[in-house]
Amino acid sequence: MNDPRTGSTSEPVIVIENVHVAPVTGPEIPSGYIRIEGDRIAAVGPGPAPAAPGTTRIDGSGCLATPGLVNTHHHLYQWASQGLAQDATLFEWLVALYPVWAAMDAEVVKGAAAAGLGWLALSGCTTSSDHHYLFPKGRGDLFAAGIEAAREIGLRFHPARGSMDMGESKGGLPPDVVVEELDEVLTATAEAVDAHHDPSFSSMVRVAVGPCSPFSASAELMTESAALARSKGVRLHTHIAETLDEDEHCLEQFGTRPVDYMEKLGWLGPDVWFAHTVHLSDADIGKLAATGTGSAHCPSSNGRLGAGIARVSEMLRRGMNVGLGVDGSASSELTPLAGEMRQALLFQRARYGPGALTARQALELATLGGARNLGRADELGSLEPGKLADVVLWPVGPFAAAVADPVCALVFGPAPPPALVLVGGRTVVAGGELTTVSQDAAGRAGAAARRRLVRLAEERGVRPARHVHEGFTA
Ligand SMILES: [Zn+2]
Repeated sequence: MNDPRTGSTSEPVIVIENVHVAPVTGPEIPSGYIRIEGDRIAAVGPGPAPAAPGTTRIDGSGCLATPGLVNTHHHLYQWASQGLAQDATLFEWLVALYPVWAAMDAEVVKGAAAAGLGWLALSGCTTSSDHHYLFPKGRGDLFAAGIEAAREIGLRFHPARGSMDMGESKGGLPPDVVVEELDEVLTATAEAVDAHHDPSFSSMVRVAVGPCSPFSASAELMTESAALARSKGVRLHTHIAETLDEDEHCLEQFGTRPVDYMEKLGWLGPDVWFAHTVHLSDADIGKLAATGTGSAHCPSSNGRLGAGIARVSEMLRRGMNVGLGVDGSASSELTPLAGEMRQALLFQRARYGPGALTARQALELATLGGARNLGRADELGSLEPGKLADVVLWPVGPFAAAVADPVCALVFGPAPPPALVLVGGRTVVAGGELTTVSQDAAGRAGAAARRRLVRLAEERGVRPARHVHEGFTA
């Protein structure tokens, strides 16, 4: 497909060969190679790779190579509060969990993020966003804790400095104890961007600005956040149109539905991606497509909370960009990112029929669609010379070898643990195990974060509940 790049290099060179390459852009190569120099892809082509001295050669026989998967919506801290309010709607679930989350500190966030990011890497994720919007006072640097965990695991990280300023007393959903003042938010958000955002090509950390939702962030916070993000040259993220309860809330409070409300606040544009966008009208889809506003589709979370399912196949047909997200661990539990390709495909087909979404479209949502949501389509999301060497090898045999098409095997079936995950040419997963940190330690950190959060919540008189409705018992 592409000619090997010529010229000498002193950077480490890796060649993955004898592999089925699904580059996402361009035709697939049933038996080909990927040549990596330093942190970039230098060449992708058919047949054996040209010989070169000093090259590390990896035999990809029986594997499918795809770009690293990109997760465009998450709340990593929620790893510490999984399995709660299992029978709740979104609003009921939030009301049950806000008081629990109010007890978190930086240690909880660090442990939860270590487990959550390790889990993502083990399902082929190489870049993840994180939307952190609760900052209880005096609890340490919660924003930096997630970044530190991502650095240790070795994933590219796009944390959004989230916020809420509209507590119950101002007509919002969250209790007043978990919201911040507008000025505090803007100062802390500017500081987070200045301290951590790296706009460079191979950046490992890029910060976004993310007021939480129309039912927890005031109009002023939304507009001031947009102005701040645009002055800093960073992206904007929030939740929109997740449930019909949100529609009702917006109509009651603002006299308009969510997308129209966001349009009024200056929140549509190519620098914005919204989580969910489940309940969109035809006109809403037209506005998001025309403005280049992206969507993070989170099918497992939407299914778990009974929210409905986004009109993804129609959104794609009308030119909207859609990526995938696992959403917070407390609303999707142990959802692996690779599994969201399958969930997206099945939900769309259940709604629209078997032609609604193909396996390759689902793979594109998880890769290039995600890269576009994060503003990194020039760097990530496909296997092309010049892009960053974020590559996943999926073993599609011996059982899956019975499927004639390896992309079908990956998306239609349960995704296998990756044989190899590279982030910028660096090995993060090999043989289905984390290589950058102890896998056991990352899992234990998540469990310890959960125990700590429960203890801190109980010290404040809050008892986390598994169910919120009568008739359900723990
Ligand atoms: Zn969310």
